[in-house]
Amino acid sequence: MGLSKTIWANPVEVIRTKQPDHPVLVFAPTVLQATARRFLRGFPGLVTYAVKSNPDEMVIENLVAAGLRGFDVASPAEIEMIRRIAPNAALHYHNPVRGRDEIAFAVAKGVKTWSVDSISELDKLIEMVPAAGCEISVRFKLPVAGAAYNFGAKFGATAELAAVLLSRAAAAGFIPSLTFHPGTQCTDPMAWDAYIRTAAEIARNAGVEIARLNVGGGFPNHRSVGPAPALEEIFALIDRVTGEAFGAARPALVCEPGRGLVGDAFVHVTRIKALRDGEHVFLNDGVYGGLAELPLIGNIDRIAAISPEGVIRSQEARPRIVFGPTCDSVDRLPGELGLPTDMEEGDFVVFKGMGAYSSATNTRFNGFGQLEVVTALSLDF
Ligand SMILES: *Cc1c(COP(=O)(O)O)cnc(C)c1O
Repeated sequence: MGLSKTIWANPVEVIRTKQPDHPVLVFAPTVLQATARRFLRGFPGLVTYAVKSNPDEMVIENLVAAGLRGFDVASPAEIEMIRRIAPNAALHYHNPVRGRDEIAFAVAKGVKTWSVDSISELDKLIEMVPAAGCEISVRFKLPVAGAAYNFGAKFGATAELAAVLLSRAAAAGFIPSLTFHPGTQCTDPMAWDAYIRTAAEIARNAGVEIARLNVGGGFPNHRSVGPAPALEEIFALIDRVTGEAFGAARPALVCEPGRGLVGDAFVHVTRIKALRDGEHVFLNDGVYGGLAELPLIGNIDRIAAISPEGVIRSQEARPRIVFGPTCDSVDRLPGELGLPTDMEEGDFVVFKGMGAYSSATNTRFNGFGQLEVVTALSLDF
């Protein structure tokens, strides 16, 4: 992954000038900072950033510049990077399963907030982490719909187990908190409603007053044609329901968006290598590269086809099967993508809202994946 020092006006200028044969992610720091300020202004609590969604150092630096002071980290490498770029930021180690080497590393780096979803991992923390001033946040799950991808399939205790873990963490002298993740790209605000009310029940059942409630990531970014998701409505719901559910025992709130913060700050520029017999579209990037997420959570329909001269193809769209460049038959975008009929080989297909889980999971499988990141003043075209 290369990094250009040029700052482009917009993605169309990148296409016209570079006509890149490799995939290019175009990053607009102004968009990222504006989204960060929207969270900081609107969310009724502490905003942290889930580093895994896009660990590009330019992203971290711009979030810090916008005023972000906390990060959700999942590994020693992420801890080390954030300590280097933002030495005083709060680190929330919210991967609930860790090796002993990882726990020791994080203790040495001053991590004070840890999530947990099982007895065995809680016992490891009690044994290895000095309790004074440290917070243990019990991660619980609910069988709720609303998100594009079920996060409860891997992590999260049932409400019953969560109450046991919470009282055990409190008894061991840790600051007791609760956390959940409603699932990524969660477009149904009622998921937060259900989770927050369950959190209050868990705390009551455990007989513990929790210090903080972390309402996770899951905030959606703008992936579908139509209005952008109304983040402020989700913030308002979280604020209201927390008050209703907890009453006088209202905890401080934390959120840890990845996608919702970074998603709309990048567009992804791919090129049409071939229109096989006028039918199938072969792009220079696919599910082993920057488009890895699409089979997991669905296509983005905020797309455009643009000629090498920078002309946006405008004829009526027709559905096409779209393949990535590798020789693997799973390297295909889900379903069909509506692309303009006047589109040609050598044109560029631009996907908007591609800042999260794109560069982070890019591979070099089959010799492809030469992904470049460039910076632009604007993503509009
Ligand atoms: C991945 C992850 C996030 C970020 O999720 P998004 O859906 O990208 O907002 C937040 N918290 C935890 C614990 C995660 O694993």
